[in-house]
Amino acid sequence: MMSYLKTTPTREGYFGEYGGASLPPPLEPHFREISEAYDRLSKSAEFIRELRYIRKHFQGRPTPVSYLRNLSQKLGGAQIYAKREDLNHTGAHKLNHCMAEALLAKHMGKTKLMAETGAGQHGVALATAAAYFGMECEIHMGEIDIEKEAPNVTRMKLLGANVVPVGFGGRSLKEAVDSCFQAYVPQADTALFAIGSVVGPHPFPMMVRNFQHVIGIEAREQFLEMTGELPDMVAACVGGGSNAMGMFAGFIEDAEVELYGVEPRGTSSNLGDHAATITYGQDGEIHGFKTMVLTDENGDPAPVHTLASGLDYPGVGPEHAHLYRTGRAKYTWADDKEALQAFYDTSRYEGIIPALESAHALAFALREAPKHPGRSILINLSGRGDKDIDYVTETYGFGA
Ligand SMILES: *Cc1c(COP(=O)(O)O)cnc(C)c1O
Repeated sequence: MMSYLKTTPTREGYFGEYGGASLPPPLEPHFREISEAYDRLSKSAEFIRELRYIRKHFQGRPTPVSYLRNLSQKLGGAQIYAKREDLNHTGAHKLNHCMAEALLAKHMGKTKLMAETGAGQHGVALATAAAYFGMECEIHMGEIDIEKEAPNVTRMKLLGANVVPVGFGGRSLKEAVDSCFQAYVPQADTALFAIGSVVGPHPFPMMVRNFQHVIGIEAREQFLEMTGELPDMVAACVGGGSNAMGMFAGFIEDAEVELYGVEPRGTSSNLGDHAATITYGQDGEIHGFKTMVLTDENGDPAPVHTLASGLDYPGVGPEHAHLYRTGRAKYTWADDKEALQAFYDTSRYEGIIPALESAHALAFALREAPKHPGRSILINLSGRGDKDIDYVTETYGFGA
């Protein structure tokens, strides 16, 4: 039998009924070109060798799996382990797909990388990749986000990126996507639009999953080596869903391993107070692909809220919608309060300050562990929390 990863998505980019690509006609040939280049290059020994070299000698991979001994003992239930993507260069998993997208762009003869960014994490990772490859980089960012996320704007500029302020509409992530798409159309011959998660039109959800798969491949091998068996439960936070898909891909053929996506429930289950798309959303379309979405009464993407700005998206990668429908993965949530407590506890008891995004996966582990003595939970610690410490301590203090 052909493996799940080789047969999913279909050639047209469908994960079951989700995914696909509905593009403005001028972009169709460019996405076809990206698809063909990916199919060819991802099987080329040279491309694979270059990517492995970058991962080892620039990113610092493999990242370790750590046993969270103190929290596991304190809770007295399941043993908790964390895959340490916070130790990947630039401090999160995003560089895994940015370096690979940039390498793809280089092989396609492109000279420029473009993307939108919300909190600036994707922008920083892409600007890093552009600097490494000596490529131009153009990042579209809402004016409100530029003000809120000044340190990331500084990083992008130091890395040589051109940060384009977006001043229309809500002046935030959604407008940044629109602005970047507009700017990309006339430049698509020489630039690559590097999408920042397992979202967007085909081939990005498949490509970004495959570039992130390294997380799951490493984690499976490391966990086996540490414990002699596979984890019982694997969990990751889900915004667009790239760190979760990378982790899940490593275990998806292991039917006995339970997969859990953890969505941000923000402050309540009311529309506008959370970004838990699978938990509270329904089937729809966003940014050129079919998936599950959160929509307002007019059918437009709903406003979302979470403490973790990297999880702030009213849609979700199509493969997550598919895994939810087939039941292969389960989707649950953690709210702002639980994530904040996990942020404090992991800092104080394990010596790891996690990103607020990753704190959602940790919150799941801390909640579930007492219920499952004798079992093991492996979470993906998608990034480090340095970016969050000022906000957290100024708003909430140092924790109880
Ligand atoms: C951006 C980000 C996320 C969310 O992105 P996914 O595509 O859902 O993985 C999670 N954790 C960190 C640290 C991030 O920077």
